[in-house]
Amino acid sequence: MTYGFDTLQVHAGARPDPATGARQVPIYQTTAYVFRDADHAAALFNLQEVGYIYSRLTNPTVAALQERVATLEGGAGAVCCSSGHAAQIMALFPLMGPGLNVVVSTRLYGGSITQFSQTIKRFGWSAKFVDFDDLGAIEAAIDDNTRAVFCESIANPGGYITDLDAVAAVADKAGLPLIVDNTSATPYLCRPIEHGATLVVHSMTKFLTGNGTVTGGVVVDSGNFNWSASDKFPSLSAPEPAYHGLKFHETFGPLAFTFHGIAIGLRDLGMTLNPQAAHYTLMGIETLSLRMARHVENAEKVAAWLEGHPAVEAVTYAGLRSSPWHDRVARICPKGAGGLFTVALKGGYGACLKLVDSLNLFSHVANLGDTRSLIIHSASTTHRQLTPEQQTAAGAAPNVVRISIGIEDAKDIIADLEQALAKASA
Ligand SMILES: *Cc1c(COP(=O)(O)O)cnc(C)c1O
Repeated sequence: MTYGFDTLQVHAGARPDPATGARQVPIYQTTAYVFRDADHAAALFNLQEVGYIYSRLTNPTVAALQERVATLEGGAGAVCCSSGHAAQIMALFPLMGPGLNVVVSTRLYGGSITQFSQTIKRFGWSAKFVDFDDLGAIEAAIDDNTRAVFCESIANPGGYITDLDAVAAVADKAGLPLIVDNTSATPYLCRPIEHGATLVVHSMTKFLTGNGTVTGGVVVDSGNFNWSASDKFPSLSAPEPAYHGLKFHETFGPLAFTFHGIAIGLRDLGMTLNPQAAHYTLMGIETLSLRMARHVENAEKVAAWLEGHPAVEAVTYAGLRSSPWHDRVARICPKGAGGLFTVALKGGYGACLKLVDSLNLFSHVANLGDTRSLIIHSASTTHRQLTPEQQTAAGAAPNVVRISIGIEDAKDIIADLEQALAKASA
């Protein structure tokens, strides 16, 4: 028997504590774990037995969260990391190497665009940015040195929805894994693995924790990719010198990527999630479906109201009929288009700043996916490092504000926007 989503978000990965019977997952605030004896220690270090050694690698509170997210995403395993950006590096690390590239969508979170266009170059990696609605362009960008294809399901900040099935088919034809950042959608709205994704990454900082208390990330592996089908992924298919020639894919099958992520990734990169943060995220996920349903309900009301406002030029919410991506909602994220969208103001840059400064209920912050309604002017903040062309391509043009709709009363959210828009357009 398989449980439904609402049951799994409460129970998956959690069982009464074997030592005390504690019903809630305890925060195992410990760095190390006592070995039964010398043989047990040796078996753990050889990866012959699975267990706890040191909390940079594994921790029972973090493990419960890993199992919960993997279950909700329909994956084989998951590795938690210290942030969403850490998760992106952890997802690419086993696949990439100097001279190799990843083909990525132009429609990404601003920080991801900076990470991919600038910082990964220090590792000798590069990213090729492509419009993911142009499947021919994705195909053309893939070359012999490409090792992955990367996009967001519901793309931040513009409310764009990626045709995951079509992109997955292109990646699959080229023998490459598709990595999907599912932060804005969460597994409640979209399950990328069902649309052909190999790996799913999250910033758990956002909707998964849900209340702006934690920085965290996770990489979920579908377990579906054949890492040994070509010689492109030697970290997973070839003998690993650090473990006496062990081959991760041959030894661990569908858990190869997850074991590699812990045994090599966390061991040597050290981007570990702490147990306290894992606890907050577990608490958040217990109410994920309830929150997401309300985020969607409120976003639909607020976006429709904004679209009819005389000071507003455009609203990019895919839940609106006017959106060019509206047709994809039913197929890619059937329970709704999320709680995030952008609004373009007729008054331009100045009106955006006035709006942000005039709101009372909304918080002006560089975050999204909180129970509270949030707003930011992307062009002057999160997308500030980008060129105007990159800003516009990423849905963050100078006359655009990004809104993350909270779970408050929709009428209060609308009233706050109404008074602030009046000031912004005065
Ligand atoms: C916030 C965010 C990230 C980065 O996550 P951090 O936890 O802030 O490192 C990546 N992708 C998306 C879509 C995000 O919203």
